[in-house]
Amino acid sequence: MKPNPITGIHHITAIASDPQQNLDFYTQVLGLRLLKVTVNFDDPGSYHFYFGNSAGSPGSVLTFFPWPGASRGTVGNGQVSATTFAVRPGALEFWRDRLTEQRIPAEDAGQRFGETVLRFVDPDGMPLELVGTDDANPDATYSVEGIPQQHAICGFHSATLLEEGYESTAHLLQQLMGLRFVGRDENRFRYAASAAGAGAIVDVVCSPDGRRGRLGAGVVHHIAWRTSDATQQKNWHDDLVAEGFNVSPIMDRIYFSSIYFREPGGILFEIATDGPGFAADELADHLGERLALPQWLESRRTAIEQALPSLTLPHMAGKSRP
Ligand code: ZN
Repeated sequence: MKPNPITGIHHITAIASDPQQNLDFYTQVLGLRLLKVTVNFDDPGSYHFYFGNSAGSPGSVLTFFPWPGASRGTVGNGQVSATTFAVRPGALEFWRDRLTEQRIPAEDAGQRFGETVLRFVDPDGMPLELVGTDDANPDATYSVEGIPQQHAICGFHSATLLEEGYESTAHLLQQLMGLRFVGRDENRFRYAASAAGAGAIVDVVCSPDGRRGRLGAGVVHHIAWRTSDATQQKNWHDDLVAEGFNVSPIMDRIYFSSIYFREPGGILFEIATDGPGFAADELADHLGERLALPQWLESRRTAIEQALPSLTLPHMAGKSRP
C-alpha cells in the first residue's frame, strides 16, 4: 500500500554540550515546556531531553542529546542548517528585546517568502530562527513567566536542509513524501505539506560550493517527519525499501515509533508516528519532572541515575539543587 503523504515535521533532534545549560536555555529563555527527561535509548549513559508546546504536539518538539564536554560541530552541507520556530508577526519585536536582554545577539535576516525572520544561536551555537507568521497559532503554547501568550513560540515554522545539490532531495520530498513545491527564492527551494499546521514547511538550500558539516554540539542529528499511525509507518517502511533506501526496522521510542534512513544529500531522516505521545508514561500535568525510563531499563534505574549529571528541573525552580 502507498503511504499517505507526510503531514509535516514531527520533531528535530540535535546535539548539545552541557545538559543544564541546554535545559535552562530552552525552558527559561525560549519558554518551551520540558516534556520529557529520559536517556538516549541506544546509549543510556546520556540524557535525552524533549521540549515543545504544552501538549507536546508533533510539529513543536525539539529534542537534544546533551553530551557534557562535547566539542562543537560544524554546520554544513548534508545537515539541517536552521531550525525555525513560528511566532505571531507582532511578536518579533518582543523577542528581539528579550534576546538582547539575555545578551543573545539576534540578527534581522530580512524577509523570506514575505515573512520576517529573526536569527540567533543557542548556547552551543545551534542556528535558530523565529519567523513572524499569521499561521502561528498560540492556543497550545506553554505558559512561562515573562512571555505573554500572544508572543510565545507556536511550534516549528520550518527547517532548512543544506545540500550540495537539491534535485535528489527535492524528488524524495515531492514524489515520495508527498510535499508540494511552493516556490524558489534564489538558491532556496520551498516545499510544504498539504496538511496545514506547525512545521508544515521545509526549505532546501542548494550550496554546491559549501563544505560538508560535521556532527557535534550545536548541530542537528536528525529530522523526523510525521505519519499518523503504525499502519502508515509500515507502508512508509515498505515503500522506501522498494525505492532503494536503506531503512531501519521499526523502533519503539515509547512516545512514538520510528524508522530511519538517509536522504540522498546525507541528512538522517526519521518517520515517526503521531502517537502515543508524552503522556504514555507520565501524567500529562507532570511531564518531565523525573527521569523517565523505558521498561527495559527500569531495573537499572539506580545505576543509570547515579551515572548521569544532576539537574535542576523547571518544576524545582527556587528549590536547591538535588
Ligand atoms: Zn528522532
